[in-house]
Amino acid sequence: MNPSANPICPLYIDGKWITPAHKIGSPVFNPSRGSIIASVPMCGAAEVDLAVASALAAFPAWRDTPPNERAQVLFRAKILLEEAFEELCLGIATEHGKTLSESRGDLRRGIEVVEYACGAPTLLMGESLENIARGIDCHTDRHPLGVVAGICPFNFPALVPMWMWPIAIACGNTFILKPSEKVPLTMQRIVALLEKAGLPPGVMNIVHGGRECVDAILEHPDVKAISFVGSTPVARGIHRKGTLHGKRVQAAGGAKNFIILMPDADVDRTVEAVKDGAFGCAGERCMAGSTAVAVGDAGERLLPALADIVKTMKVGPTDVREKQPDMGAVISAEHRTRVAGLIDAGEHAGAKVLADGRATRVDEAPEGFFLGPTLIDHVSESNPLMETEVFGPVLAVMRAKTLDDAIAVANRQAFGNGAAIFTNSGKAAREFRRRVSAGMVGINVGVPAPLAYFPFSGWNDSFFGDLHIQGKEGVEFYTQRKTTTTRWFGFGDGEIWAK
Ligand code: NAD
Repeated sequence: MNPSANPICPLYIDGKWITPAHKIGSPVFNPSRGSIIASVPMCGAAEVDLAVASALAAFPAWRDTPPNERAQVLFRAKILLEEAFEELCLGIATEHGKTLSESRGDLRRGIEVVEYACGAPTLLMGESLENIARGIDCHTDRHPLGVVAGICPFNFPALVPMWMWPIAIACGNTFILKPSEKVPLTMQRIVALLEKAGLPPGVMNIVHGGRECVDAILEHPDVKAISFVGSTPVARGIHRKGTLHGKRVQAAGGAKNFIILMPDADVDRTVEAVKDGAFGCAGERCMAGSTAVAVGDAGERLLPALADIVKTMKVGPTDVREKQPDMGAVISAEHRTRVAGLIDAGEHAGAKVLADGRATRVDEAPEGFFLGPTLIDHVSESNPLMETEVFGPVLAVMRAKTLDDAIAVANRQAFGNGAAIFTNSGKAAREFRRRVSAGMVGINVGVPAPLAYFPFSGWNDSFFGDLHIQGKEGVEFYTQRKTTTTRWFGFGDGEIWAK
């Protein structure tokens, strides 16, 4: 079956694509056109029960499949993902609105997690110490947890789910994925490839829905662990409820990432990096550099060039391969209204708009959810733009007299995902790296998002839990250790070895 031909997104349970009857549908848009391209059935406990039953039944055989055989499925999946790469990327661009080049980044980063998970035999190795006491040895090894679940946001239709399932299943768990109801199609296509790669039925399952569906997952006694990525209020609630129900939870939340611009920063390279950091993926990135703090005269040196570049950015539809813009649409009409409202409020509070995206119109796609890139200067700490995660194509610029002041401003906000500094001074960079209260730091790097081998290590209100997503922490999260202490007695009278 080709699930993507079906305008109602099917569930994937026990290796079968199922279209649930009588469910309220939530529309999936092509943000470039403002048109509906599919519908997501908003499921609840009944569908979650089916998915958990399927994953539970598949678990013993998958757990007992040797890690190298599990890795072989992932190797085959990687090949199939590469073959379908361009088609999948156009699908991401169509359901999300980001450009084709950004969609390639989304999937490429996801495939890197599959590659990492292909190392399962090495990643799962234990530790041992011989002779912890006379004649006694000790070793510890890793065991899967059982049925685990992943709940995903809209902004990376491929990457965020792929932070989760490749490592989870490589470790021997079975998986239930709840994609974002706004972008369910990419993972549907990818799971069809997993099936082709030989993943046994029940190892991977998809359920669709919103809060009701998530609550059913959180409350289900047979779900052992939850990976969540989304906004901070939801992440906090998921962590609380999930742990209350006895589950292991890693919950990544929202962000407000500060970029410190020092007066000695290289102008051209910094302007280019700050533009990409703020407006890449239309600012809908948890690692977007959404707030710049210009120290000393850095604003005067950098902002005129930045404003010129921002004003020339081309905004347009991303669902046509041949003609790609610099920036695509935001996810929905409501989100566009919300972000434009925050720019209005920021301006009314005294900030100065240097490049204004609110009036952007795209003639070739008049119904698309477009909002042009906006650069807004002299934003104070009490400005409404500072009160919340904007998650749109807006770069707010603050001013500070010293590096100390800039770090203090960054550290007073509640989040702690990413932070970056642009400078040629090693001393300033070192000071910033040590003192900034964020888990992922960039030095002359605007979007310091770690690769698959490192943890995605948000701090403060950007992460709830103990073990982060990806890398060794990801393996740690999806496994539990067993420590065995061994002593062998002699053969008694029939000793075959002389003492
Ligand atoms: P969201 O919190 O609205 O939704 C995320 C998921 O939670 C979706 O699957 C949704 O169906 C579900 N959900 C929504 N409300 C719920 C509720 N009340 N109870 C239970 N489940 C609920 O997030 P979004 O708008 O899809 O994604 C954008 C957010 O994700 C931004 O805040 C962004 O910073 C964050 N994000 C964080 C990271 C990170 O690594 N920290 C990465 C990507 C995105």
